[in-house]
Amino acid sequence: MILTPSWMHQPRPYTVETLRQWCTREGVSIVYDSAPAGRVGRYWGSWEAETATIWLHDGLDVDSPAFLATLAHETVHVASGHDGHQAPGIEARVNELVAVALVDRERYAFWEAEYGGHIGGIADGLDLPYWVIAAFRGFLARTYRPGCVVESTPHQLGSLNQFT
Ligand SMILES: [Zn+2]
Repeated sequence: MILTPSWMHQPRPYTVETLRQWCTREGVSIVYDSAPAGRVGRYWGSWEAETATIWLHDGLDVDSPAFLATLAHETVHVASGHDGHQAPGIEARVNELVAVALVDRERYAFWEAEYGGHIGGIADGLDLPYWVIAAFRGFLARTYRPGCVVESTPHQLGSLNQFT
């Protein structure tokens, strides 16, 4: 099951500060380490329910788009009550939810027209990581129907994806 963290109902833009405040309200600690007790390993982030801690790799630049997106990803795990790494299908839906929250649709449309669907180019234009744009395109592919304007909020997406 995937649930939408409440910060996604706040007005945009979403910043690291938005997410930090949400974590504080939820009683979640954020810890930066390169290999905290062997838990993060090859991951950039991880959520440990037992200690209510989000671990972020200290190789992530706090000002980078990857930092914001990784922290956003982990907050979805927190809100969903996950513990540890989830099955690939669930991780993919978490990424889609993050993408729908972080991608500005008008700016996306501009950069998609500019780069003809080249994911790396769009990611640079929007200043977001490649995986966020790839997930956003996955979301569009699943939901877009020609001639039909789909106005889907993160909340709606979360509701559609409640599976266990
Ligand atoms: Zn994850």
